[in-house]
Amino acid sequence: MRSALADAIDALLPQTQCRKCGFDGCAPYAEAIASGSAGIDQCPPGGQHGVDQLATLLSADSMPLDLARGTAGVSELALIDESRCIGCTLCIQACPVDAIVGAASRMHTVMLEDCSGCGLCVAPCPVDCIAMVPISALAPAHDVMPRSEAALPALAARWRARHETRRRRLSDERLTREVRLAENASGSRLADADLTAAAQRRSAVAAALARARERRAADAGRHD
Ligand code: SF4
Ligand code: SF4
Ligand code: SF4
Repeated sequence: MRSALADAIDALLPQTQCRKCGFDGCAPYAEAIASGSAGIDQCPPGGQHGVDQLATLLSADSMPLDLARGTAGVSELALIDESRCIGCTLCIQACPVDAIVGAASRMHTVMLEDCSGCGLCVAPCPVDCIAMVPISALAPAHDVMPRSEAALPALAARWRARHETRRRRLSDERLTREVRLAENASGSRLADADLTAAAQRRSAVAAALARARERRAADAGRHD
């Protein structure tokens, strides 16, 4: 379980989930700071203000933001050239805050109000039709909330919630795949009611795996 200190640190991080800190999102970086294995200068979206806030929380000396990891703040959002999109869904899979909508073989689009500007969708696009665009250039044509230092805490709460929802969904999908594999191995189908909650899913996986083991043992016994 995460410590109270890691929670307090995470509460100060901007939650873009961009991984520029070198960790797989804001929560793992918070845990690394709490355990003393990472410095407080590694989050470019949080800016120098973020470093100073972390220093205050930890009663430590502040330090300059490590600009080698990226420019300070959130100044760009992703824009898809929809005329070139081939609907491969790779950008959806890469987006940590579920800010892209679209279906397989259909045009995809970024919901700009939810985009954290992390840039993680750009590299996976096979036809290079995603560009990071300065918010100042988008603002006249799109109704985009500025990602100013003052606006970041409210946006961070939204991005954290969206990231958590996504994380739970991916975890549930993984568990469901495990259940189905275990069902195939055991030769019996679990009731849909067994798949309603994560805890139930875990015990369903364990039960299905146990049945698969029993079946294998019985098969081995018959062949002895
Ligand atoms: S906003 Fe990006 S750099 Fe900052 S802690 Fe989160 S993932 Fe790391
Ligand atoms: S749309 Fe792209 S830049 Fe925006 S949050 Fe998703 S992955 Fe990051
Ligand atoms: S990765 Fe590029 S081509 Fe694929 S769906 Fe996203 S925008 Fe379209």
